[in-house]
Amino acid sequence: MESKESFKEELMATAKAIARPGYGILAADESTGTIGKRFAPIEVENTEPNRRAYRELLFTSPDIENYISGVIMFEETLDQETKDGKNFVELLKEKGIITGIKVDKGVVIVGGTEDETATQGLDKLGERCAEFYAKGARFAKWRAVLKIDVTKNCPSELAIYENAHGLARYASICQDNGLVPIVEPEVLCDGTHTIEECAEASERVFAGVVKALQDQKVFLEGALLKPNMITPGKEAAEKATAGEIAFYTVRTLSRTIPAAMPGIHFLSGGQSEEEASQNLNAMAKLQDVPKPWYLSFSYGRALQASCLKAWMGKEENVEAAQKEFIARAKGNSEATLGKYEGGGSTEDLYVKKYVY
Ligand code: 13P
Repeated sequence: MESKESFKEELMATAKAIARPGYGILAADESTGTIGKRFAPIEVENTEPNRRAYRELLFTSPDIENYISGVIMFEETLDQETKDGKNFVELLKEKGIITGIKVDKGVVIVGGTEDETATQGLDKLGERCAEFYAKGARFAKWRAVLKIDVTKNCPSELAIYENAHGLARYASICQDNGLVPIVEPEVLCDGTHTIEECAEASERVFAGVVKALQDQKVFLEGALLKPNMITPGKEAAEKATAGEIAFYTVRTLSRTIPAAMPGIHFLSGGQSEEEASQNLNAMAKLQDVPKPWYLSFSYGRALQASCLKAWMGKEENVEAAQKEFIARAKGNSEATLGKYEGGGSTEDLYVKKYVY
């Protein structure tokens, strides 16, 4: 098998191409179960033809190539094509968009913890990565999930260690097979914690993840980070402004994430479309805190919620739905440059104990 040494130049080039100014990632990697939860409220049946049609709608949206540099897919989507027979990976490649693949297999509870979880999927990961590379994927995603519960000491050291180790092994295996790993430690927003408590917990998590990446000799220039933003818990007494979220988020990252990593692409984590754009915009405008990396988006819900609502599974709504998606892609592209002027939906997209 090749080692990451032989892929270094390519990994760095891929990461840089994804993290280019004004561009972000579309997370369209909802598993078959999760996309069913998105389809249910719009009364679309969760069938293979419907999933295919919805992904075609997203990927063929006019102007997508002006805002989106990478698309994360679920395995099924990697083998699908447009109704005219064009493979999705090829279609995106022709638009200069790089395909990524979700490689984790979901989470299980770690015994002896307060129902904290570890992510599965390391078995045969090398073989799977090689197969995904052969199908045209050039980056990957693995989501690790941590929760804050101050009364129960969560995230525990054990959960941090276990999740950091999983992320680092995954990242190393991806790089050995030519895939840029998106390292995703998601500290959930469920709970009543303050923004300071989120900052403190996330700082411990990110530091643990970076230590594990270095221990596993992950090539940082060829890896991307996908963290949560630093926010108060969804049930917290006090809300925070976009400026406060931007400050705490960048400060936490500046304390923990090496400048060698080219891009940090946030998840939206249940924020409304408008909040996700405003918070990113506030980070671009933030001064006086070091920001050596490119800060951008890798949103699922905050890019797709209005689009799904406009679509309703109907062919005659495809154009309107594509307009909604592109409005969010454009808005977030502007936000990466600090030029966002507002206009997104403020509907809360938070789902308790969210499973991707
Ligand atoms: P959300 O933006 O909906 O949180 O999803 C992003 C993602 O890919 C989580 O793994």
